[in-house]
Amino acid sequence: NNKEVGKASKGQINITIPEYDPFYKRENATFFSLVRNEDFVGMIEAIESVEARFNSKYHYDWVFANDKPFHPTFIKVVQSLVSGQAHFVEIPKDYWSSPKWIDQSKAAEVRRQMKEAKIKYGDSEAYRHMCRFNAGLFYRLPIMKNYRFYWRVEPEIRFNCDIFEKDWFKYMNENNKKYAFTMAPLELHTTVVGLWDTVQKFAKKNKKLIAKDNNMGFLSEDGGTTYNMCHFWSNFEIGDMDFYRLEPYMKFFDLIDKEGGIYYSRWGDAPIHSMAVSLLLSKDELLFLENTGYYHKPNGDCPHNPEIKSARRCACIAVDDFTWDKSSCIPKWFEIHNFEKPDYAPKYKF
Ligand code: GDP
Ligand code: MN
Repeated sequence: NNKEVGKASKGQINITIPEYDPFYKRENATFFSLVRNEDFVGMIEAIESVEARFNSKYHYDWVFANDKPFHPTFIKVVQSLVSGQAHFVEIPKDYWSSPKWIDQSKAAEVRRQMKEAKIKYGDSEAYRHMCRFNAGLFYRLPIMKNYRFYWRVEPEIRFNCDIFEKDWFKYMNENNKKYAFTMAPLELHTTVVGLWDTVQKFAKKNKKLIAKDNNMGFLSEDGGTTYNMCHFWSNFEIGDMDFYRLEPYMKFFDLIDKEGGIYYSRWGDAPIHSMAVSLLLSKDELLFLENTGYYHKPNGDCPHNPEIKSARRCACIAVDDFTWDKSSCIPKWFEIHNFEKPDYAPKYKF
């Protein structure tokens, strides 16, 4: 019952947007940003982009979470930019710390070694708290329990294309999608040592929890023996939190957390989520959100197709596109699904 209010420029894509429809029923959904007070300017830039390219048509809520109290000016300014309700929460200590079974001296030794090896964030404990929180805890915050779907937004990201012709939360709900991604680069192999084996161990112990037509082929080139480093870039994700809240993922995260690799290595929330949704969901429940013009340093998406580019008013050029780059895993995604690859897809290789 949305009203069609117009067509995008050049008339290539029909858009149905609810901004003038008083009866529009939003999904039970919110944007979600974990952010520091110091990220003030970058957060504003990201909000302005998300609002301009999507949310000014839909007015979804936005939850901001911080391990420290938000500065009153942060709250005041950010609140004024969100077209839905904005909520600001401080993360409880036990959601922002290592679990009690972690051997602190072992974790400190790992940080020392990773610093020496110059691994990005290798010496940071806060980065690991962040990964643990994003992988397994954020959806347990009381405020998040009010919502089913979330859309993660980081400071300094932007969307270079209009993506408002569909309400993506509604699209996910109506098409039984549980996890959406837009970029899939390769992970730093030094940060995921032991993760694949842990997931394999989980899979052997919990055969009943594994989805029949799953996406595990996306993550391995040799039938599951080794991990190919492909992952969904979690700085953007739209997800169904009911998935995280049910037994399969609860057990999955529990094992990962118990294993300690978040602290004894630097397992990120991105490979953790990627492996979970690829193992526990059928691959049709995953959604590749294309042609968004999404940008998070140092990679960006940019449509190659001129019709799409003009209809979505993309402020980017295709030579900068990472999606179809040699080191992007999106071509692999097309192979797994037997989707026909567009002309501009390079030959896939590692
Ligand atoms: P990268 O994308 O892996 O390089 O990591 P980021 O520095 O972008 O951090 C990922 C997300 O966590 C971003 O939304 C950050 O704002 C947030 N974040 C990282 N560290 C902290 C922290 O110590 N406190 C808070 N509140 N947020 C953090
Ligand atoms: Mn980031």
